[in-house]
Amino acid sequence: MDRTKRIAVVGGGISGVSILNRLVNHTPGRRYKIDIYDSRESMGHGQPFREDSEHLLINVPFDGMSLSDDDEDFKKWMTEKGCRPVQHPPRALFGEYVEDFLNDLLKHENVQPVYAYVTNVLIEKDGYLVQTETEERYYDAVFLAVGQMDYNDPYQLKGKKRYIHNPYPVNEKLHQLKGKIGIVGTGLTAIDCIRHLIHEEGASELYVFSRSGELPSVRGMECQIQLKYFTAENIKKELHRGLVPLQHMIDLFKKELSEHQINTSLFDRQTGDAHQDLSFDLEHADEVGKLQYLIIEANPVMTEGFHYLSRSDKKVFMEKYHPLIDENHSPMPDSSAEEIISWIEDGMLKMFNDMEDVDYDGGFTVSAGGQKVETDVLINATGPLWKVEEDDSPLLKNMLENYIVESADFGGIIVDQTRRVISPRYGTMNRFYALGALSVNVDYLSASVNILNDYSKMLVEDFYKREEGFDE
Ligand SMILES: Cc1cc2nc3c(=O)[nH]c(=O)nc-3n(C[C@H](O)[C@H](O)[C@H](O)COP(=O)(O)OP(=O)(O)OC[C@H]3O[C@@H](n4cnc5c(N)ncnc54)[C@H](O)[C@@H]3O)c2cc1C
Repeated sequence: MDRTKRIAVVGGGISGVSILNRLVNHTPGRRYKIDIYDSRESMGHGQPFREDSEHLLINVPFDGMSLSDDDEDFKKWMTEKGCRPVQHPPRALFGEYVEDFLNDLLKHENVQPVYAYVTNVLIEKDGYLVQTETEERYYDAVFLAVGQMDYNDPYQLKGKKRYIHNPYPVNEKLHQLKGKIGIVGTGLTAIDCIRHLIHEEGASELYVFSRSGELPSVRGMECQIQLKYFTAENIKKELHRGLVPLQHMIDLFKKELSEHQINTSLFDRQTGDAHQDLSFDLEHADEVGKLQYLIIEANPVMTEGFHYLSRSDKKVFMEKYHPLIDENHSPMPDSSAEEIISWIEDGMLKMFNDMEDVDYDGGFTVSAGGQKVETDVLINATGPLWKVEEDDSPLLKNMLENYIVESADFGGIIVDQTRRVISPRYGTMNRFYALGALSVNVDYLSASVNILNDYSKMLVEDFYKREEGFDE
């Protein structure tokens, strides 16, 4: 008699839960036993949506976030729970929705949670040995969905007293900090820290350091954009021997901007003066919104286009154009921008650009823009690592060591177009997939919930098609 086949989903965050949902709800799903691995506190939440301060808000309007094929699923869940509908609810609330979603999936008798971190995946016979600190189990297929890597440590301060390397959960890590508080970085993590410290911890003075002084843009007015020139079809027409020159893509993108009367100078609007930049976006919500919604619409085309760039074009793109796209891709809610402006005006937020270095002698001396500023506490808000070889987690270290995975040029590990892992030792691995921060090499600009939820469908369909000859 055939034994029941087994699948491991490693990571119980957005990608893991979404993959599990697709696996269970495809017709062949009932024939497999499926385990989903994560720690007890993160299972069904993922890092960004864990229980934490209510001042950490989702940065995509709630109707753009769902784990089902119904875009309104989260909205309906909120209505059922009697939540007040706001455009940007707390991230922890979305985490509760994901947990409920997972709990429904766990009612299937062939699905089990395993509350442990995976430390290694090894190849054995025709399958995979998944190890944790205490046990190992054999699987026929593995889906890696472990999320972003550890935080960057640009000033080598990890482990120093009163240096907060990873500020989440902020309601624990940023509770009752004493003395002068500095924050390194001006991205969405810095905004989380600032809002929490001022609203919940009563901070009256915060020192914010960065290299460029540029904050994320402010979400502008929503608008419908239909792409005419910057389309996957038009990019594919330029394909020659598997590649499209970057300049051809830029030309198509510029044509698209011009079609919607969007001035390219909007990409240069950031001056590094936070007050001025946020005020500009709030005052030009129409124009800025048009640009942001065009980028959202163009997101899948950019992801596909990125596959067709040569290595050197990718490098140019990442250095020159990606920061401009990124600034406008994950904007902050306008309410957060208004607060930040008023805190700068009241002298509560002191912003320092051109950060160069930090000296540590029990306290921190930050050199920025020719000034030296001393703080007692320093919070790292510089974002995650993107090179797998720099990450300290046992899973990635072990898989790299054993040549199961290989680091990719522009982040994550090497995977093929269907997100199957390409191993330097074993080649393209059937029944071994990666999604999320690890597949960023082919998933340029694809970290948001809805995109991951779409991609999980593609992975699972590919898996069932190969395994079962099954195609819905
Ligand atoms: C601060 C922040 C805010 C964000 N806000 C939004 C937003 O509002 N809207 C939006 O669309 N996107 C947002 N994003 C983007 C976000 O990255 C994705 O939406 C999503 O959380 C990524 O899903 P994931 O499953 O890949 O990673 P995660 O959701 O982080 O899940 C990965 C899971 O894997 C687990 N794990 C890690 N290693 C192991 C291991 N070895 N064994 C077992 N389990 C492991 C982790 O504990 C974690 O639970 C935000 C990102 C960040 C960092």
